Amino acid sequence: MTADGTRVVRGGDEPVVPGTPLRPSPVFAAPYHLGEDPLAADFYARPGHPTLRVLERAVGDLDGGDCLVFATGMAAISAAVLSVVRAGDRVVVPSDGYYQTRALAAADLTRFGVVVEQVPTLEIADVAARGDLDGAAFVLLETPSNPQLDVCDIAAVAAATQATGAVLAVDNTTATPLGQRPLELGADLALAADTKALTGHSDLLMGHVSTARTDRGRELHTRLKGWRDRTGNGPGAFDAWLAHRSLSTLDLRLTRQAQTAAAVAELLAAHPAATGVRWPGRVADPSYPIASRQMRRMNGVVSATLADEAAVHALVRHSDLWLAATSFGGVHSTVDRRAQWGGDAVPAGFVRFSCGIEDTDDLVADLGAALDALV
Ligand SMILES: *Cc1c(COP(=O)(O)O)cnc(C)c1O
Repeated sequence: MTADGTRVVRGGDEPVVPGTPLRPSPVFAAPYHLGEDPLAADFYARPGHPTLRVLERAVGDLDGGDCLVFATGMAAISAAVLSVVRAGDRVVVPSDGYYQTRALAAADLTRFGVVVEQVPTLEIADVAARGDLDGAAFVLLETPSNPQLDVCDIAAVAAATQATGAVLAVDNTTATPLGQRPLELGADLALAADTKALTGHSDLLMGHVSTARTDRGRELHTRLKGWRDRTGNGPGAFDAWLAHRSLSTLDLRLTRQAQTAAAVAELLAAHPAATGVRWPGRVADPSYPIASRQMRRMNGVVSATLADEAAVHALVRHSDLWLAATSFGGVHSTVDRRAQWGGDAVPAGFVRFSCGIEDTDDLVADLGAALDALV
């Protein structure tokens, strides 16, 4: 049972019991009936519950590690860093990654006396090779980075952090575990905002951290589990169940999304209304050499720059299928003008296109017509 399409459907399954559903139903409980040994079974849902454990087995299986699921992507990222670092430690985060991660570092980590350093995704491998990660306690990579889709060599950075002892975490949101397996490439933690492509229906927030099945990984897992138990930022049964249900179609969704992304990237690259198209799977893309070696399959997000803010609004007006929305990875195709949020260093007309699972030809025709209307 190794192929992606099988694992996303069957991962996390309990042994078959005749007369029970194929997919377990959510178990709704805060406290449970207690026996004489209160710790012998579920007793309270904050530290864990049956629906969460099934999801964690499924996602951990995809990551090749032991998974802890959190209420949001930011809950997962903050748990990863805060369960590892202490005052005076040095933490390295991407300068061009998800903007709330930088905000967390700037607003909260520094308040606790952690020294934060920002390094562009394209430079981190060179910084590591020069020995400049010596003394860092925690290094976070984000590859492909959101929203500009730069990639970095995870194995090269892991070689450096393994030598220095820093904990290496990879934000795998854009790729998902089907697109990339950071633990196999030497990372200590593979984490993601499962709000995006992993669950992919734009109906819930979720995140996870998977740890390697090594002594060091198990030690990190214990710290993370303790953090989640004490801070109480795990998801409830309904969201965990919805996420597991959505996971079944991840292989199919990613296949369609990447197929559409390839066509959308070519359309944008050839169109006079757009410049600077980025998609790591496009042979001409600067990310392609590393992405094609490191990633198991491509993501469904493409970015490009239109003339200005008005051009992005006009694109949405002229399109029937591409909806304005933030977030990405869902079944609907969406466009997000990133400059409107103020967190990314991108031009006013920079757009992140998230390819949904509608028909590829319909999406390309609709986007092509909307782009034509701009010139
Ligand atoms: C969205 C996102 C997050 C945060 O996830 P939430 O579920 O919104 O908290 C973290 N990292 C990346 C790369 C993201 O795209």
